[in-house]
Amino acid sequence: MPLQNKLKKQITIALLFFCALCMAQQPYKRTLKLMGSRFDITVVANDSITANKYIDTAVAEISRIEKLISSWDANSQTSEINRNAGIKAVKVDAELFQLIERAIGISKLTDGAFDISYASMDRIWQFDGSMTEMPSEEEIAASVSKVGFKNIILDKEKSTVFLKLEGMKIGFGAIGKGYAADKAKDVLIAKGVPSGIINASGDMNTWGKQPSGKEWKVAITNPMDKNKVFALLPITNGAVVTSGNYEKFVNFNGKRYTHIIDPRTGYPSSGIISVTVFAPKAELADALATSVFVMGIEAGLDRINQLPKIECIIIDDKGNITKSKNIEIDKV
Ligand code: ADP
Ligand code: MG
Repeated sequence: MPLQNKLKKQITIALLFFCALCMAQQPYKRTLKLMGSRFDITVVANDSITANKYIDTAVAEISRIEKLISSWDANSQTSEINRNAGIKAVKVDAELFQLIERAIGISKLTDGAFDISYASMDRIWQFDGSMTEMPSEEEIAASVSKVGFKNIILDKEKSTVFLKLEGMKIGFGAIGKGYAADKAKDVLIAKGVPSGIINASGDMNTWGKQPSGKEWKVAITNPMDKNKVFALLPITNGAVVTSGNYEKFVNFNGKRYTHIIDPRTGYPSSGIISVTVFAPKAELADALATSVFVMGIEAGLDRINQLPKIECIIIDDKGNITKSKNIEIDKV
């Protein structure tokens, strides 16, 4: 081979090698605030321009959902439903209708521990540090009388939602982030993104594998010592959600109350400080994690153990760790 050709060939090989390196898939991550929470969106892509376009798509999808379900945004359909409580049925998009339908399904599955109509209670319980004393028994009783998923009246044909009692209110605080994480994952898969993670403040949804071929892993920390990871678990194409917002709680008479309210009593739950649920979908995982808080360790675990493909890890306020039947924890 003449020298020139040999040189050409070598340069071509070097170029190819270089290109392969540039094109190597790698994870790109963006952190931002959406739905009042921190979101970390990670996509695996060949370059940062493509990755950014993908992440923009996910952000647009999450913002769209926020507009639909936010109870703070006076223009959302959810606010329209709440404004018309006790007055009239409100026509909503099929998407919101179905989300409410599924939420009611979870209420039935958890014997009412999960209930989107808990929301009228947020008039008397605040977990942002502003509460100085416990609401009175009368206030709690009056407020809880407006709670009850059975008073959410759905009309499938007309696609309407009616809150039967005046003063009733629904809110998606315990299911919305999970739903958004599922939808963001769906749009990215539809765009052909091979793998990624949507992490909505601890509501994680993954698909595909890391570019190295290894599974994504989730670190479980003990809320008693947040810097200490006690388990590292692999997740492939599934969701893992941790409920237990350590900042949102109040202390009264030496007892710690979380921001998760028992819809049946009107009192915030206590005893458990963190619940992690593994499920195929983040929406269900999110709602179940909240439910276990309310149901307590025994009843919560019993229900989780009856559900296929769902596992959980519970940490109580003494630091005890309880896990569901089929979960293997590799201590780290
Ligand atoms: P985190 O904020 O730690 O992610 P969750 O996902 O469990 O926790 O959501 C807690 C939020 O759910 C509360 O801030 C409130 O908005 C709402 N919520 C409280 N109690 C209930 C309940 N029993 N059923 C449904 N939603 C609830
Ligand atoms: Mg939840």
